[in-house]
Amino acid sequence: MLDTYKHKGLRKHLVTLVRNKGITDENVLSAIEKIPRHLFLDSSFTEFAYQDKPFPIGNGQTISQPYTVAFQSELLMIKKGDKVLEVGTGSGYQACVLLELGAKVFTIERQRALYMKTKEFLPTIGYRPRMFYGDGYAGLPAYAPFDKIIVTAGAPIIPEALKSQLKIGGILVVPVGDDIQTMISLVRKSETEFVQNEHGNFRFVPLLGDRVDEK
Ligand code: SAH
Repeated sequence: MLDTYKHKGLRKHLVTLVRNKGITDENVLSAIEKIPRHLFLDSSFTEFAYQDKPFPIGNGQTISQPYTVAFQSELLMIKKGDKVLEVGTGSGYQACVLLELGAKVFTIERQRALYMKTKEFLPTIGYRPRMFYGDGYAGLPAYAPFDKIIVTAGAPIIPEALKSQLKIGGILVVPVGDDIQTMISLVRKSETEFVQNEHGNFRFVPLLGDRVDEK
């Protein structure tokens, strides 16, 4: 499928919507303007791609709402070259935003079918994050530490493994809670000290534990 002038126009409109909801980071807004979100949805649903809404991507999962992607991306304060871990690859859209911001992206997906689908798809539109099939609760110890970590599913608690894989000065952004989550950002000040801030309520699909997989 193509990226047409019509799609580009719809994206400009989406950027205006997201800007009006309070996103000010111009690099994040440019990434949304650039990435062809309609290609992340099954072709029969492309008309929904540029509404500011989440959308089902199969396996009971969703591609996050553009505003939420922008909000989490802004909180991460990405600098070019930052090493970033994403938990919850899903469609890969958030990973592409991080790549556009100049990050080196490592992303983990718990569901094999989604991992496979996204691993095949992203290179076809020119994006190549490092992709892993596994449990994001454990992070990626072999590649730690990270400058930034983002969790894109609702976590019942902040996973300790992720805190320990953050560089000093690094930022972890994670929605915490069961039905409704509070967006939390955590800055690591030292080996043992973290400063936590809350940024309002969001609704994510839950982070899957150890036993869930394969449909
Ligand atoms: N970032 C995604 C949105 C993902 S929805 C995007 O831009 O499209 C949340 C994703 O987290 C789902 O794909 C889900 O399968 C995945 N997930 C849930 N629990 C996980 C875990 N423990 N480790 C890694 N991924 C997980």
